[in-house]
Parts: sequence; structure tokens; C-alpha cells
Amino acid sequence: MGFVQDIRDDGLGGLEHNFITGKIEDLVNWSRSRSSWPASFGLACCAIEMMATGAAHYDISRFGMEVFRASPRQADIMIVAGRVSQKMAPVLRQVYDQMMEPKWVISMGVCASSGGMFNNYAIVQGVDQVVPVDVYAPGCPPTPETLIHAIETLHQLIEDGEITRRRQLTGAGADVRVTEIPAAAQPMPVLLGIR
Ligand code: SF4
Repeated sequence: MGFVQDIRDDGLGGLEHNFITGKIEDLVNWSRSRSSWPASFGLACCAIEMMATGAAHYDISRFGMEVFRASPRQADIMIVAGRVSQKMAPVLRQVYDQMMEPKWVISMGVCASSGGMFNNYAIVQGVDQVVPVDVYAPGCPPTPETLIHAIETLHQLIEDGEITRRRQLTGAGADVRVTEIPAAAQPMPVLLGIR
């Protein structure tokens, strides 16, 4: 019985667990937690604090994260910084779907986490309705210190394998699917009169 089932197809899932591969998994999780690159996804005022976190004073290059990637294929952390409009939700989901596995989501600020003060038809009342959120950063806006705390929390979850286990148990996080409503089934727009 070999250690490797098919690591090319299954990654770590292709390794049978024993003392040696357990240590390899620890090493891989540690290196993953120290080399994650965020996707550029600033949506509103929270994004200014996210940019400040990347600037010289807070310097998230200490965590190997200073490279915000414009391409989702080169990113594995999505920091949702700001309110998510109903129109933006499918775009956000598409960017998430295009990111590499394994991938993680930080919801930054009350607007992204719960709609915040925008309790109306235009804003998604919590980005966990669109993508599976791993860590929430509270505040309006969260300070760079709060975002760094969320990043360190996420790193700890990646390092001890907690997120991977949760995903396996729940079937890839929230398992949310966004379906497009056919044009014929959409309600007629309200026409406003001309003054
Ligand atoms: S939480 Fe506050 S700072 Fe962040 S997007 Fe909402 S209103 Fe702006």
C-alpha cells in the first residue's frame, strides 16, 4: 500500500494519512497561510482602509500579501471591502469561482457582512448569501488593525486545517449558487411619469 493515491488529481486529498504525510500536510498548510495573495476587490469606503493596510505604515508584505492580484486566477483570498449591490453580486460570484482552490473569503465591514445601514432593495444583506465567508472583520469601516486581526485569524484557520475540514464536512462552504432569472420571468419595471 503506497502513500500516494493520485496526488496529481487530488492534491492533499490524494495522500493517505499517516505520520509522514500528516507532517507534510502541516508544512503545506503553514506555507499556504504565509503565501496567500488577495484579489483586488474594493467595493466602497472600506476599500480605502484595505489600501491603507497594504501601504507602508501597516505593510501587509510582512505576511507575504502585498501583491493584490488583478487576475482572480492568481489570487486565493477575496477581501470583500464594502457594500455589495444586487448588480455586483453575480460579478463577485464569478470572480470567486475563477479563483484558485483552495480559496478563502474575508468579509470586511458591516455593509459586506450584513448590509449595514443600507437595509434596502439595492444592497445584498450579507455577502455570505453569495460566497462562503471564512472570517468577518467588524466595524464601519474596520481599521487596518482590525483587518490585520482578521487576516491573522484566517492564517491560523488555514494553518491548523480547520477551514479545509469544514469545507469537506459541509460540501465546500455555503454551497451558494447564483442563478440568473430569465428575462421573461422578470417583473415589469415601474415606469415613472414625466413631470
Ligand atoms: S462598513 Fe462603513 S466604511 Fe465600510 S462600506 Fe459600509 S459604510 Fe463604507
